[in-house]
Amino acid sequence: MPKYVFDFIEGGKDLAELLGGKGANLAEMTRLGLPVPPGFTVSTEACRGYLATGTVPAGLFDQVNRHLRLVEDRFGKVFGDPRDPLLLSVRSGGKYSMPGMMETILDIGLTDASVPGLAACSGDPRAAWDSYRRLIAMFGRTVRGVPAEAFERELAAHRSHAGVANDAELTEADLRHLVDVYKKVFHDHTGRDFPQAPHEQLYQAIEAVFASWNTERAVLYRRQEHIPHDLGTAVNVMAMVFGNLGPDSGTGVAFTRDPATGATGVYGDYLANAQGEDVVAGIRTPVPLEELERLDARSFAQLTSIMAMLERHYRDLCDIEFTIERGKLWMLQTRVGKRTPAAAFTIAAQLVDEGVIELDEALLRVTGAQLDQLMFPRFDRTAAPKPLAVGIPASPGAASGRVVFDAVRAAQWAATGERVILVRRETNPDDLPGMIAAQGILTSRGGKTSHAAVVARGMGRTCVCGAEALDVDATGRRFSVAGTVVSEGDVVSIDGTTGEVFPGELPVRPSPVARYLQGDVPAAGTDALLDAVHRLVTHADRVRRLGVQANADTGVDAGRARRFGAEGIGLCRTEHMFLGERRALVERLILADGDGERAAALAALLPSQRADFVQIFEAMDGLPVTVRLLDPPLHEFLPPLAELTARVARAEALGRDPGRDGALLAAVRRMHEQNPMLGLRGVRLGLVIPGLFAMQVRAIAQAAADCAARGLSPRPEIMVPLVATAPELAAVRAEAEQILAETDGLPPVPIGTMIEVPRAALTAGEIAGVAEFFSFGTNDLTQLGWGFSRDDVEGEFFPRYLGMGIFGVSPFESIDTSGVGRLVRIATEEGRAARPDLRIGVCGEHGGEPDSIHFFHDAGLDYVSCSPFRVPVARLEAGRAAVAARTSTTSDSR
Ligand code: PEP
Ligand code: MG
Repeated sequence: MPKYVFDFIEGGKDLAELLGGKGANLAEMTRLGLPVPPGFTVSTEACRGYLATGTVPAGLFDQVNRHLRLVEDRFGKVFGDPRDPLLLSVRSGGKYSMPGMMETILDIGLTDASVPGLAACSGDPRAAWDSYRRLIAMFGRTVRGVPAEAFERELAAHRSHAGVANDAELTEADLRHLVDVYKKVFHDHTGRDFPQAPHEQLYQAIEAVFASWNTERAVLYRRQEHIPHDLGTAVNVMAMVFGNLGPDSGTGVAFTRDPATGATGVYGDYLANAQGEDVVAGIRTPVPLEELERLDARSFAQLTSIMAMLERHYRDLCDIEFTIERGKLWMLQTRVGKRTPAAAFTIAAQLVDEGVIELDEALLRVTGAQLDQLMFPRFDRTAAPKPLAVGIPASPGAASGRVVFDAVRAAQWAATGERVILVRRETNPDDLPGMIAAQGILTSRGGKTSHAAVVARGMGRTCVCGAEALDVDATGRRFSVAGTVVSEGDVVSIDGTTGEVFPGELPVRPSPVARYLQGDVPAAGTDALLDAVHRLVTHADRVRRLGVQANADTGVDAGRARRFGAEGIGLCRTEHMFLGERRALVERLILADGDGERAAALAALLPSQRADFVQIFEAMDGLPVTVRLLDPPLHEFLPPLAELTARVARAEALGRDPGRDGALLAAVRRMHEQNPMLGLRGVRLGLVIPGLFAMQVRAIAQAAADCAARGLSPRPEIMVPLVATAPELAAVRAEAEQILAETDGLPPVPIGTMIEVPRAALTAGEIAGVAEFFSFGTNDLTQLGWGFSRDDVEGEFFPRYLGMGIFGVSPFESIDTSGVGRLVRIATEEGRAARPDLRIGVCGEHGGEPDSIHFFHDAGLDYVSCSPFRVPVARLEAGRAAVAARTSTTSDSR
């Protein structure tokens, strides 16, 4: 029979998988000789057995009994003994902490027979009866599913009958009576008596903790935190000690450093004459831990020396829970403590200074997600009103502004200096100008990977999406929520870190970390946090192998990216250069009748394209700028079909000539595609519309030559989108090379391709024959690899897929390593085999996402390219990936 039960003296901190985090650390403390009440842990393996079969594994309780006898021996009491009972706590604890998600049952072993024994030995009959009534309620609720309200109702009735305001004022007689009433409630709901056999209580409690792994809230929490569902929980069974036996007893929680700021020194709370749940329940206010020094100097000294020892041992911030029973200190829990992003950076740097860890390890102790959090401004919440609604925190930050319901007005108001929040049911690509103009974006539909969320994150714009309580009436220009109506022009504030939506304007504080990373403030010697961020990001730059470039298509974005540390532009999309007033020129191109008209239309576009490139080359002087030739289907630049149809119909009804609209409508009808993602776009467009790519190449060449003539060092590269086969690229290349050759004063201009069609990945060896570089377009590679289009599926069935656990995370958010990632690996390998000096990068959304960056490092890519705001995150994660690969230690951010 497998060994399912482990005494605390048998385990250790490295066994979290088997014993859960709590069990492993209790064992570690026991081995260190610290005063841990005796106990044992039932393994996660036993829980998995239970979850698979619905019954407790055979022989488990025999093992429990054997270990219980050891506990009795060591504690010098017998479980449930009527004279002086050993009582037990039964607590859940999986590999990853899931605070409050699973069950705990205290005072197991208390029965009608043993309450008097406990009362006599503790000298506190009231506390004994109080413990018993708590056990009946906790056991009834957790083990037998009795609704908590059934007990609470009785408790409230007793309080009012006794004429007291809180439970602490109930007398021993009240509590004795309440025990009888609770037993009746238990019987009424379960048809059985409250079990009077201590072992029976223990077995049932263990089983209930196993089952609590699958409560709705636990499943939801795991889904959110990406914790696998098949791990199971361990169960920790420990001798009860009591902090509520008088003024020389108490309970507390403490940290070895401040988990909010990272400042050194012991932090904690202490509550005299109380048990742990009293602290959690917030019934009484605890005092700062230093107070314990006055109350019980000996325990305080012992506690602080244990904490120093734990920190040395774990080489990190630890948090602990402890109880003092009549002057004797007991350690009930420890673990490497959770901390805020600011504390994570500060503590990692402190530990380096203290000689505890090396910089490499410090880098593994912080994450890109934490750095991201530190870069966004925050609300000053001291005077925040109640939120109107809470949505999904999709893109962090704090934004206030006037509510606007359409993109055009958002852009107009913003142009006059107004701060606006764009509110939509959901956004689509047409909303882009409004999204750019707005301080923040608020939607009532869609999840973390909705259009609004993805675009907002890419732009570093604050976004709350899926705030379903909002009833958005865009036509009426207002939204209503819980009886409040917010009209266009009213001010709201949205917090992209918490998802909250507030009425009115909340003051914000700018993020000093973002200011430092943008080069606005120096790091050195000013502030512990900035200093820590500086040291860790610089160390990441020293150790990383992956280059970090940015996706930017304006001079302003390029400049910002450079200040954030981008080493070039990995993707300059040119389609944004065809919007705004230039749409008219694109329309001319589309409607051109014959070569002459087309050439004239292209010639009209050329100067503005060239001017755009000049600005970008200036901002990125000396660094590579990868310009991608036009990608989207052309009709995206024309008015929507429905709008044109209506305009033409209106004109015809009035007997007027629809003029240009008629021609546009015909063009849109001609070009209309059922699925534009799979149609005439990318390189296909370049090959089908004569002169289009040539005009773009000419604009690049002329802009570069112009900059070079002014003494700058432009480094343009030309990238062709959506290539599926080598001949496509070869054709574009031949034309481009000819144009480049005609331009004087040009540096060499590498020509490469995006790999974003599965066929391209699978024929990468052939394509590498004509490409000097590859850049994986993982957005399209994901769409085409999975066979779904992002805009269609994210709102439709992704929530269901995520709910069903088919995805742990959306493949548009984090690279699907086994499918799309495999295409990346194949193309990298075969591309390099054909051309050993092939440069390979990635420029899809995944280029700025931490887990994906680690994958790209492992796959051997040369660089990642991401939005400017994510550049610091990518630098940090690329460094972490290099260290993690070297040491094959992965830091666990949970
Ligand atoms: C991609 O497909 O990953 C990519 C970067 O191109 P776009 O997102 O512009 O289609
Ligand atoms: Mg693409």
